Amino acid sequence: GTRFPRPRETRIFTIANQKGGVGKTTTTVNVAAALATGGLNVLVIDNDPQGNASTALGLDHQSGVPSIYDVIIDDVPLGDVLQPCGSVPGLVAAPATIDLSGAEIELVSMVARENRLRNAIREHVRARRTEGLEPYDYILIDCPPSLGLLTINAFVAAQEVLIPIQCEYYALEGLTQLLKNIELIRGHLNTDLHVSTILLTMFDGRTNLAREVAEEVRGHFPVETLEATIPRSVRISEAPSYGQTVLTYDPGSTGALAYREAAHEIAKRGAEPNTEHEGRDPKV
Ligand code: ADP
Ligand code: MG
Repeated sequence: GTRFPRPRETRIFTIANQKGGVGKTTTTVNVAAALATGGLNVLVIDNDPQGNASTALGLDHQSGVPSIYDVIIDDVPLGDVLQPCGSVPGLVAAPATIDLSGAEIELVSMVARENRLRNAIREHVRARRTEGLEPYDYILIDCPPSLGLLTINAFVAAQEVLIPIQCEYYALEGLTQLLKNIELIRGHLNTDLHVSTILLTMFDGRTNLAREVAEEVRGHFPVETLEATIPRSVRISEAPSYGQTVLTYDPGSTGALAYREAAHEIAKRGAEPNTEHEGRDPKV
């Protein structure tokens, strides 16, 4: 397949939207798999107690399995909980178990409670460099549909926010609040944070509504919104029940193609000029 250009530095994304069911998890795992398939080193962090990303990536994530909970609450090194995603070389992930549902409460009384995920990622990145391992090109953090301390931890850890928007009524509802919250984080906790990417999901180009919503989103966010849109596709929704992303479940499907295009666009935007066709060899 096509080699994707490598970013100069690790790009850390939080995939966020306070609405549930808009395609956050689906976007996280499929963009991650597409980037890895493009020859890049990718880490997914499942930061949602529901563990849907862990399921979709085929990770072991019953209660008690070393997970992001242990990293955030008990200072376990991030590297100790990572699992390879068998079906996609170049992709590793930190699972979320049901234990994470308690973290929201446990975090409240902790020191530097907003910075715990960021610190864990930084230490892990440093440890990998010391070991002479290739740096990650992308780290993608999947979030729950709320603005609790887990999501705040993700915003503090990231530089970029990717907002999936479902092309339906009320698509933009809640977005103003999300953007306000991101501004607050930027002002107080993480000056690097910005909304770099918006992806239209579950797009059905046959309906006027979907086209109108897409136009409205592009009107508000002409730079951020990717050209690629993700169609509504049964293959995309089936893949998680096989512990797979659509990229491996049905690589030739329209859904897989759309996520590859979206990921390629993301990679091109973040690349240094003239590196498009170079790129180092993927991890050996
Ligand atoms: P979120 O993480 O924002 O709650 P999900 O990614 O879990 O949203 O998606 C919600 C539901 O919609 C899931 O059942 C998922 O399989 C389905 N879904 C997501 N994207 C698509 C798509 N492009 N086509 C069809 N179904 C989709
Ligand atoms: Mg989700």
